[in-house]
Amino acid sequence: MIVFTCAGCAASLTVPVSQVALPAHAHQQYGHEPLPALMEPRTYAVDPEPSGPPWRRWEEVGAEEAEARGVYAPTYALSYGPPGTVAVALGDVRGTVLIPERCDGHCCGLDSRNGPNLACAQCGHAVATLIDDCSYWQVVWLDPRAVRPLDVDAPARRALSWEELREQPERPPVEPIGAWSPVWEATVSVALAHLLAASGGARVVVPHGPVADAFRPALDALLPAEPPTRSLALAGPGLPATVTDIALVPQHPQTGEIWPSGTEAAVPLVADVWMHLAFSRNRRLRPASGGLPDGVYRDDPPLPPPSGPFRLDRQMFLHALARLPEVRQPWLRTMYDDVRSRRANLPFWW
Ligand SMILES: [Zn+2]
Ligand SMILES: [Zn+2]
Repeated sequence: MIVFTCAGCAASLTVPVSQVALPAHAHQQYGHEPLPALMEPRTYAVDPEPSGPPWRRWEEVGAEEAEARGVYAPTYALSYGPPGTVAVALGDVRGTVLIPERCDGHCCGLDSRNGPNLACAQCGHAVATLIDDCSYWQVVWLDPRAVRPLDVDAPARRALSWEELREQPERPPVEPIGAWSPVWEATVSVALAHLLAASGGARVVVPHGPVADAFRPALDALLPAEPPTRSLALAGPGLPATVTDIALVPQHPQTGEIWPSGTEAAVPLVADVWMHLAFSRNRRLRPASGGLPDGVYRDDPPLPPPSGPFRLDRQMFLHALARLPEVRQPWLRTMYDDVRSRRANLPFWW
């Protein structure tokens, strides 16, 4: 496992943590409530992209330089902060103090507008940014310029096998209060960007079922109704092999590995969402706990009905699509511009 230490004085800044894949919803903004912690306890994830201030406007940067930075369509501004920031749970951070003059936020808490707002308690160097404002997933981003990873002698978490992942809780699409899950909205929006790029602009045919429920309204509205067509189906552990043009495959939450489907095009989905799409209609019962006799099985209570129609997260979609080189193709760029400017009559976006 790794302990992150201060680059200035070597003080420990976290408990021992193991690396996992960066959650797809890491930079999502959603609703007006403080959101839960982004990271599971004792884990960390690295964002390979530049993040945080300074920001430069698209007009200043220009298409050529943006492309060299992996952004292929206009966006409001690009971060010129460091790549490789490290996300950890607030509860796993040690030995830091707030920097009072950098504790601005939009509403209920702190956002990242002033750069790092946490300093090493021992030497005073700015080392991290706590984000806990409403609409944001609560997270501490360690500044890669100010911390060092230190290998420590603690047993690392073993990566679960794909079969073991099937035993992990699925992520239901609707929260107990009846709202759509923000993680689902982010995941489906990012996957839709990849799906459009993989479609080549052809109609995508989805068989009836949970995948169609999540993707078909947007696919049907955005892509032509006539042939040629490309097929879309789930592929992954526990499912029979299938022949499809585009496979929706799970991404391992710990290793980031994408299920090797062998198809021409594969679109990854975070594993707990994928598991729900693949298996929710065939759920396995679990032995009951709480003093019930052996052999008594239970199922989770049914999901509440959602309080409104499923909506895609426009910002997550645009962020993902702008980073796919395919967006330079005119048909996809037009789609990007339409969604960005809200020109298209697409009722399923926030
Ligand atoms: Zn607020
Ligand atoms: Zn220090």
